[in-house]
Amino acid sequence: MNCERCSCELREEDIVVYQNKHLCEDCCFDLMNPPKTCDPTAVSSTLNVRKELGQSGTEGLSELQKKIYSLVVERSPISREDLLATLQLSPSEFEREFSVLRHCELLKGFKKGSTVFFTKY
Ligand SMILES: [Zn+2]
Repeated sequence: MNCERCSCELREEDIVVYQNKHLCEDCCFDLMNPPKTCDPTAVSSTLNVRKELGQSGTEGLSELQKKIYSLVVERSPISREDLLATLQLSPSEFEREFSVLRHCELLKGFKKGSTVFFTKY
């Protein structure tokens, strides 16, 4: 099996299915985090809701989101592998939680070489 986007070779366990495509983790990450298309509406609506609720920082986040946030703050920049291994999360669980943290402008991801790192916003 090859990645449908960059056609790199993939081992069965490294395949990520995203939007019905079989992708390597890197491509999946790129698609989920397109450079500069942070969805401004999603961001501002999340921020507005939080503002209305009087939430700031990590208030209003789930326990898991708080855990991710404090781990990243403590070990920033932390690689994706490290983070997943430390919190024992699957990539899809993590992406779901991380998108909230990114929308709340708490954390962001960046790529260095072929490794993805996370740091404070
Ligand atoms: Zn790929």
